Amino acid sequence: MTAFRIGVLKETAPGERRVAAVPDTVARLCSSGLEVLVERGAGAQAGMPDSAYAQAGAAIVESGELDARADLVLCVAAPDRSRIAGLHAGQILAGMLEPDAELFDACARSGLTAVSLLLLPRTLSRAQSLDALTSQANIAGYRAAVLAAATYERFFPMLTTATGTMQPARVLVMGAGVAGLSAIGTARRLGAIVTGYDIRPEAADDVRSMGARFLDLRGAVAGGAGSGGYARALSEHERDAQQAALRERIHEFDVVITTAQVPGRRPPLLVTAEALKSLRPGSVVIDLAAGPRGGNVEGSVPDSTVVLEGGITVIGAGNLASSMASAASGAYARNIAALVALLVHDGAPAIDLEDEIQDAVVAVYRGALRHTEDGGAR
Ligand code: NAD
Repeated sequence: MTAFRIGVLKETAPGERRVAAVPDTVARLCSSGLEVLVERGAGAQAGMPDSAYAQAGAAIVESGELDARADLVLCVAAPDRSRIAGLHAGQILAGMLEPDAELFDACARSGLTAVSLLLLPRTLSRAQSLDALTSQANIAGYRAAVLAAATYERFFPMLTTATGTMQPARVLVMGAGVAGLSAIGTARRLGAIVTGYDIRPEAADDVRSMGARFLDLRGAVAGGAGSGGYARALSEHERDAQQAALRERIHEFDVVITTAQVPGRRPPLLVTAEALKSLRPGSVVIDLAAGPRGGNVEGSVPDSTVVLEGGITVIGAGNLASSMASAASGAYARNIAALVALLVHDGAPAIDLEDEIQDAVVAVYRGALRHTEDGGAR
């Protein structure tokens, strides 16, 4: 019997430097009897050379061979549509596939099974080892605080020197989920005075437990919790009230980091162009939600830095985890290894759609779509 083959893709999305397996996880897959094919250069941008994968037991192959021979193809983001069209019936494609109807249709047309970790039911304790959203958001939050400190042309901590005392930076983190709390913790460790904000009432305790203050926008939004621990979408009236209340308070801060998301929706607009005008020159705003569907900050541009007329720097940073490609790949590869352990038993595919986790993450099964029109929400 030929061994079950895992293929590790070289990512091609612009700015994507991560890789779905690292030498350490490859060695573990190989020792469990699986054959691993790594596309040439797959880990290069994450500091993992082909030689390290070869040493771990993988075969280094070109894309054509990988696509023809791999039974389970691992990726970070979905490969482009022409590559999906070149895969063949019976193969499994697994990664952080955007829950997008057009993508899943393309997978179905090729007869694939498509598995997306973005569809994971994250509140199940059994799902924690697979939770790529959490592992990557933790890294993005940390990086956002470090990037803010490096961009801000004053100190984060209070410093007393012979020439006087430097005031600490005042940092506001909006959205206190995984990325937000990670940013809060890091900014605090860097010595800033940190304030957090979220519309889920329970987030206030999370913020305070990290030693930060909670921003009270005086009832702009009542009860922002939705289902599954996520926020709900706001009505137009609530959104306007939130933006207006923030506009009144934002001048109190030197650095603003935004991380707000609502599953299946565009990111909510929190900081308007008008609000940006009330920041002082030299202020730094980092929008972790900036992406093709908009962001939390008006005028933020994905993967770009914009310096506004008043000397305010706005950084669109929707894929910050990728800028720490080595650590992010290591964490993601462990999430992916846990997924492989779930889907493959004793060297053979063992997808069980009765299992709650697999039922959620398998979006296409052997060419048949399993989720609703929008691909399902996470
Ligand atoms: P997310 O990425 O969907 O959103 C980030 C944050 O933005 C959330 O805290 C959300 O409340 C906030 N937000 C949305 N709209 C907002 C608005 N208009 N104004 C201000 N804030 C707004 O969330 P996430 O980081 O993935 O986590 C969401 C929740 O799920 C958290 O409570 C987290 O602790 C929980 N979670 C639990 C588990 C688990 O139980 N294992 C795993 C992961 C996450």
